[in-house]
Amino acid sequence: MTPPVACVIGWPIAHSRSPLIHRHWLKTLGIEGDYVAQPVEPEALGRFLSGLYRETYVGGSVTVPHKETALALVAEADEVAAALGAVNSLWFDRGLLIGGNSDPHGFLANLDEQARGWADEPATAVVLGAGGAARAVVWALASRGFTDIVIVNRSGDRATALAAHFGKPARAAEWSDLPDLLRRASVLVNATSLGMIGQPPLELETAGMPDGALVTDLVYVPLETDLLRRARQRGLRAVDGMGMLLHQAVPGFERWFGRRPTVTKELRDLVATDIKGRHG
Ligand code: NDP
Repeated sequence: MTPPVACVIGWPIAHSRSPLIHRHWLKTLGIEGDYVAQPVEPEALGRFLSGLYRETYVGGSVTVPHKETALALVAEADEVAAALGAVNSLWFDRGLLIGGNSDPHGFLANLDEQARGWADEPATAVVLGAGGAARAVVWALASRGFTDIVIVNRSGDRATALAAHFGKPARAAEWSDLPDLLRRASVLVNATSLGMIGQPPLELETAGMPDGALVTDLVYVPLETDLLRRARQRGLRAVDGMGMLLHQAVPGFERWFGRRPTVTKELRDLVATDIKGRHG
C-alpha cells in the first residue's frame, strides 16, 4: 500500500506552517506518509478537487482564499463547517469528499490548555474583528455558553452581518463602546490582523477589565503581541494564538493518518523558532 499523503491547499501557500507541524507528528509517531504544501489557483479549485486531489491525497487542510469556496464543492459538510460557512479540512468517506472546520476546536483547546477554567462562568465576551477567524471564535464562545458575545469591527456593517448570521447571544457594537464593554467582559479576543508584523498596531486599553479576565490574540506573528504584553503587565491572563494553530491541526491529522497527535512543548518550540527565524 502506498503511504498516505495529505496536503494544505491555498494560494499562495509557501508561507504555511502546516507542513512543519504535520511532518513533526509523522516523524515523532513513526508514521510512514507525508504532508505537503499544494498551491491551487482560485479558478482551478473545482477541477483540482474533483481530479488530482482524489488521485493523490487522502485529504488535507484548506486555507486562504479557498475556505468558503471549498464548502460549495464538498459532497457533505460537518456541523461546524456548515454553521461557519467555511471548511478548513477535507477528507474522504465512502468515496465522498467531506469538509469540516476545526478552527473552533483549535481556539477552545488552546484556551482550555493555557487558561484552565476560563469559561467556567461564561458571561460577556468581546470579539474584535468580523472576518473568518472571528466567525470561528463567535461560534466557539457560543458553544461554551457565553450569554453575551459582542462583536466590534472597523467596518461596522460586517460586525452587524456576523451577529445577524448567528443571532443571539451574538450582537454588534461600536469601537467607541469598548471601554464600557471591557469593564464587564471576562474574555477579550483579538480576531483582527491588527498587531501582526507588517500591520498597524492594535491600540486598546485593557486596564479596565475585571481581575481574572482573559485576553487572547489570534495573531501569532509576533508571538507576544503588544495586546498580550499589556494584559500581562496588568495582571490579566494572556494566551497567544500559536496554540490555536497547533490544536486546530489535531483532528485532521488523526483522520488522515489514523493516530491522534499531541501538542507538546517540543512542537511549540519548533514552530516558535520557525516564526522567529522568518520574522526576527
Ligand atoms: P480576515 O481578512 O477575514 O479579517 C480581517 C479582520 O481584521 C477584519 O475584521 C478587518 O476589519 C480587521 N482589520 C484588518 N485591518 C484592519 C485595520 N487596519 N484596522 C482595523 N481592523 C482591521 O482575516 P481572518 O479573519 O482570516 O484573520 C484575522 C487574524 O487572525 C489574522 O491575523 C490571522 O493571522 C489570525 N488567525 C489566526 C489563527 C490561529 O490559528 N491563531 C487562525 C485564523 C486566523 P474590516 O472588516 O473592517 O476590514
